[in-house]
Amino acid sequence: MTLEQRIAHVEQRLQQACARSGRSREDINIIAVTKYVSVSATLEAIRSGLVHVGENRWQNAQEKWYAARQLAASDAPDAAGQAVWHFIGSLQTNKAKEIVGRFAYIHSLDRLSLAQAIEKKAAELEIVVPCFLQVNVSGEDSKHGLAPEELLPFVKELSRFTHIKIEGLMTMAPFEAEPEQTRPVFRGLRQLRDELNREAATDTPVNGLSMGMSNDFEVAVEEGANWLRLGTILVGKEEE
Ligand SMILES: *Cc1c(COP(=O)(O)O)cnc(C)c1O
Repeated sequence: MTLEQRIAHVEQRLQQACARSGRSREDINIIAVTKYVSVSATLEAIRSGLVHVGENRWQNAQEKWYAARQLAASDAPDAAGQAVWHFIGSLQTNKAKEIVGRFAYIHSLDRLSLAQAIEKKAAELEIVVPCFLQVNVSGEDSKHGLAPEELLPFVKELSRFTHIKIEGLMTMAPFEAEPEQTRPVFRGLRQLRDELNREAATDTPVNGLSMGMSNDFEVAVEEGANWLRLGTILVGKEEE
């Protein structure tokens, strides 16, 4: 399939999931996860109108990041607008300074030491970084993220970091042969968000739910996702 066909295919399934669940397509953002594809495929995705781009390691992302910036600055007829970068991978504390300022959103904030590192760099740059708090809803050992019961205390601690904005919550569901089985994980994340808002844990209500990947995005949409992170199904996966 070409990129155009993959985009159309995802769009069709997304609209059907919206229709099933009474949701509006405009409330859902797609992040094109380019970690499995080349620089040129990444630029092609941006040119074709995928504004949000996700990567999970700066080392793999940087060539794409600089190329995209150059493309946006050029006056070539097919130059794309500025891509909006999302850091979706687990982030080592000492790497935060490479990410803050380059990536508009961070989806993997899950501990105080990382918040401190993000805050420090963001303060230097005089920016506020929208972050998603990663929650390990499924409880799998292999997954990063806060335990659900750690979320509320963590949110309270974050209130003293003036350069971090809590944009929402993020989770990864286990890979299931039957995507329907991911539903409790996504529902759990939405309930945690609603609980934060009921408790008025933040100055302004939290809306973001970053959940749903290639295998399970329709279930995530039905459960309230508003940021989908789509790699394989959207931009493909190149063999190493
Ligand atoms: C790789 C990755 C994705 C996208 O995975 P696909 O299954 O290819 O859609 C989404 N989220 C995170 C955190 C990832 O690391």
